[in-house]
Amino acid sequence: MDQAKKDNRTYLMEHECKAVLESLGITTTGAEVARSEEEAVRTAELIGYPVVLKVISPEVVHKSDAGGVKLDLKGPDEVRRAYAEIVEAFREEEVVGVAVQNMALPGTEAIVGVARDPTFGPILMFGLGGIFVEILQDVSLRSIPITETDADEMIAGIKGRALLEGYRGRSADIPALKGLLTQISDLVMRYPEIAEMDLNPVFLYPDGYKVVDARIIIGDAPKTAERAPPKIQDLHDLFYPKSIAVIGASGTKGKLGWNVFCNLINHDFKGELYPINPKAESILGIKAYPQISAVKKPIDVAVILVQASMTPEVVKECCDCGVKYVIVESAGFAEMGDAGRKIEEEMKAITDSYGVRLLGPNCSGIINTHCSMVQSIGIVDALSRGNIGLISQAGVCAAGMLWGLRHIMDFGIVATIGNKLDINETDMLEAVSQDENVDVICMYLESVKGGRRFIDVAKRITRDKPIIALKSGRTEAGKRAVASHTASMAGNDLVYSAVFKQAGVIRARDYEHMFNLSRAVSKQPFPKNEGVFIITYAGSLGVISADAVIDEGMRLSELETHLKERLLDLLPEYVGGLNPVDYTFSMDAETVKKTIEIGVESNDVGSFIVILQAEILGSYVEPLGKIDYRGKPIMVCVAGKEFAMDDVIKMENVGIPVYQTPEQCADAISVMYRHWQMSG
Ligand code: ADP
Ligand code: MG
Repeated sequence: MDQAKKDNRTYLMEHECKAVLESLGITTTGAEVARSEEEAVRTAELIGYPVVLKVISPEVVHKSDAGGVKLDLKGPDEVRRAYAEIVEAFREEEVVGVAVQNMALPGTEAIVGVARDPTFGPILMFGLGGIFVEILQDVSLRSIPITETDADEMIAGIKGRALLEGYRGRSADIPALKGLLTQISDLVMRYPEIAEMDLNPVFLYPDGYKVVDARIIIGDAPKTAERAPPKIQDLHDLFYPKSIAVIGASGTKGKLGWNVFCNLINHDFKGELYPINPKAESILGIKAYPQISAVKKPIDVAVILVQASMTPEVVKECCDCGVKYVIVESAGFAEMGDAGRKIEEEMKAITDSYGVRLLGPNCSGIINTHCSMVQSIGIVDALSRGNIGLISQAGVCAAGMLWGLRHIMDFGIVATIGNKLDINETDMLEAVSQDENVDVICMYLESVKGGRRFIDVAKRITRDKPIIALKSGRTEAGKRAVASHTASMAGNDLVYSAVFKQAGVIRARDYEHMFNLSRAVSKQPFPKNEGVFIITYAGSLGVISADAVIDEGMRLSELETHLKERLLDLLPEYVGGLNPVDYTFSMDAETVKKTIEIGVESNDVGSFIVILQAEILGSYVEPLGKIDYRGKPIMVCVAGKEFAMDDVIKMENVGIPVYQTPEQCADAISVMYRHWQMSG
């Protein structure tokens, strides 16, 4: 690598790459440089036939495209002819020589690669060669460094894994492959200047592997400009302030400054409130101040609602008054283009110089139901206190969506992060996870600024407090023209899916999915085995549920004999199977309760799906709410639940999530089960 840098090259040729790999104990087919026909023959005799000859040139990246690879040469004449042909084919290029190497026995072709993702830095890719990577995009990715578990998951994560495990006589040495992945990850950690790497192909054998071709592209080592992460306790008072100034608070109904102040008053925030507005004596009955410096009392948080162009000045005033945190809810910044970006830079320079933390801009503040604090820019109705933490890049989560969701979900903290000028999603995640009232964290993200730190932080948290993330912008994935397959993955949405997996973050498909899952996770315990017990009033919904359970990789539980007998006593004569157990339309709450109680006693039942009639849903609320489930989750499915919302809300409020379809129930159960397994 030093040699390449000295020559001002960014591209390491095959023989150089293989030397790097061999020095780490990675097995390759080798590559001896020959500079004449005679030398090529001598080397071939030493290595032993058959051999392979390849062009060596700093200008040739894809050697075989232009006739630069001659395979299976069986004797000196073939070597001479191949040598001459290569020299002839590359007359126009700078040719260093010809590489003579072992002809590897055929094996299962794989690709191992490294590329730099703009968000997460170096990523490792693994896939099977040929059409698997090129056409099917069947690859697994992880952010570097990887752990042993990551390596296992990368190998198990490709669809073609059956080829590795042994199919028609092929199989691969999984431990050796795992070692290779880990060694490449270590290599990149040691030499961060490695920007791209492509081991393509690697031949996998039942016993070991061989790297057949390798290229490395070096660049500048990425700068680790990421600011030192804030101390967690730094953000505590942001969530539990003793005093809030609202700059731009307004007495005019309909203005955002009115909404925010109204929310603080209506939700009965217990700390001091200081509306700042030069044109008002008082706002909503609270004494107003012309500017923040007139308050002359300690202020923990300043919420700023003035127009963008005025914010730097106002932020500076806040800093001068000793405000601990500034929340800029105004919009009109980076999201509007360069002029807004400049204002952001100005603000950032000010808060940095004072050591003050800033949330936003372009956000909707924080809601903390546990201290009755609502800073949203939209009017928010009464909220009950709950255990869900929601971190959102978009403000709509803190007002628009809560209007309905508050009936069936109980939030602890809703933190909007907007443009993430200072406090980013990772800082927020770390802080919210420390809140003892929060058990489950939902995140809505459009981008991740924290990069690798996001993975490390999320991984630490998610075992105790599951994280469910919705990441949008999937379709923007950059399609860049690059030299390797791995490089084309950089910036791709697949990277997000991979790092979420790596960090143990559950990725939601859409808003509904995120809130469906978080209702289950926040209200119910985790299933401890795969067995699902289904109770239904309609045969079809029972069959659909069974399909959904199997599709999700779970299974139908089977009751122990003595429990089967108890269940048979409950069943009318025309009933078919025992799981799903179908009570037909005559089903009632008392029978369902007894059936669940039988299931609770079975060692093979890990969870319940209970399909209830919308028209009498209300009659189930109390009986089901009272059962001792002994740590087993229950998901209720009500077809047409949107027309029975009063009863759905009651059911949700006794802690039982209600879904529209059996598939949603099965999905929640399997996601929770897998998360429980992963968390050990
Ligand atoms: P390229 O620069 O075009 O990627 P490679 O070195 O990968 O060149 O060679 C092209 C193909 O030739 C490989 O995909 C592999 O199938 C075969 N090949 C190359 N080197 C060897 C070798 N030493 N033993 C067996 N097959 C080889
Ligand atoms: Mg190749």
